Amino acid sequence: MESTGVIRQAAWVIAWDEASDRHVYLRDADVAFSGEGLLQVGGSYEGPVDEEIDGRDLMVMPGLVNIHSHPTSEPMNKGITDEIRSPNFHHSSLYEFLPVLGPDAEGTRACLNVALAELLRSGCTTVVDYSRPIDGWLDLLGQSGIRACVAPSFRSAPWSTIDGHSLSYDWSLAAEGKEGLEEAKDLIDAARDHPSDRLSGIMSPAQIDTCSEDLLVSAHNYASERGVAFQIHASQSVAEFHEMVKRHGCTPIQWLDRIGVLTDRTIVAHAIFLDHHSWLHWPSDDDLDLLARRDTTVAHCPTVFLRRGIALQTLGRYRRHGINVGIGTDTYPHNILEELFNAGTVARVEAGRVDDVTTADLLDMATVGGARALGRDDIGRLTPGCRADLVLVDLTTPAMRPMREPLRTLIYCARERAVRDVYVGGQLVVRDGECLTIDLDAQLDLLQEAQARGMARVPELDWAGRSADELAPLALDVVAGDPA
Ligand SMILES: [Zn+2]
Repeated sequence: MESTGVIRQAAWVIAWDEASDRHVYLRDADVAFSGEGLLQVGGSYEGPVDEEIDGRDLMVMPGLVNIHSHPTSEPMNKGITDEIRSPNFHHSSLYEFLPVLGPDAEGTRACLNVALAELLRSGCTTVVDYSRPIDGWLDLLGQSGIRACVAPSFRSAPWSTIDGHSLSYDWSLAAEGKEGLEEAKDLIDAARDHPSDRLSGIMSPAQIDTCSEDLLVSAHNYASERGVAFQIHASQSVAEFHEMVKRHGCTPIQWLDRIGVLTDRTIVAHAIFLDHHSWLHWPSDDDLDLLARRDTTVAHCPTVFLRRGIALQTLGRYRRHGINVGIGTDTYPHNILEELFNAGTVARVEAGRVDDVTTADLLDMATVGGARALGRDDIGRLTPGCRADLVLVDLTTPAMRPMREPLRTLIYCARERAVRDVYVGGQLVVRDGECLTIDLDAQLDLLQEAQARGMARVPELDWAGRSADELAPLALDVVAGDPA
């Protein structure tokens, strides 16, 4: 027997209104749920209950859906890649930093646990984990309690630079890409069969410029056969845009379409450098229309780009073209509410207008937009029959007061500080802001050691033999003695 919980008289509920196909507020409403799903949203629940939660100081909202993240590596970069330079690559961190920074096997597990705990604490209940497979991956995801979609990454030809201004791609490793594709197929099956019942998988070749046409087409064909999504990084840097033009005589997005993998099951991360982007001054303006015509989803992860002064132009413009957008946390911190704050703020600055996106738009992207990209109609919305993925927001916490408008105050002021409890599939995974499934402090201790080991390896991996401190200097000089 599944036990039944009810949140009584929640001050605010973000419920799904089937008739108008949108999120709406309910006031003083009950939310009843079990491990099977949501039983009732709104009104007064009269059925038998095992646990009652007083909702008078709470907002109840759907758990947020994160369609792009790299939790097995990104947490280690905190304090290193916040403010870095790569002048010959338009300051993208992909070419001089990504290849030299990375955790060892033990570090990947600490990274993953830290990221998952951070995500749950920020109200994220579904995450796409786009990682190179690690030992014990599915079990670690299962133990965390999160709803996870594994996106095992593979590629034909990793990039490298030997001079800090040109890129080479090692196509002699193409056989590894094919092996990676086969491994991904097995992992997608294993995720579906995992006893936690919360795992699934998608096809996810790594980057447009590191994968052969054959590999991409094979991966997309398999995704279609199995009815799963297909995700790829594309249009993520100026260097990549020009590389693809040089190879194929068209933009990255147009090439994906030419080879038949730009479809309604495709998620393009990050789709920033499309042909309309002002940094490119490209003589066409076709990519946005093409993404819309193909019903392709864009995974939008503003934080990692805004650190380098890079922005999508503009989030509202993509939406007005009819493009489905989901939200991802491509970098640390794994805080999906902070990602929403950045998405809204950067869109308004880039557009020069407040109405480029609304707060309701942001919520849609982080709920039903992401769910649609993953082919799911049972998450991202609070309506009977959907999964009981719930976020309980404490309206009495100082950052939420004075309390007049709960969703805006959550995103623009309070963020994870107001997230009290989180349920995934009816199971409590965050209580009073603490993750119950992962010992975050212990994992942070492990991550601290892993970061030190990772930084020590940097000189042997950097093209110029630079140390981590040379590549990413501290914000202030450390001086000896009395600064007077
Ligand atoms: Zn990414």
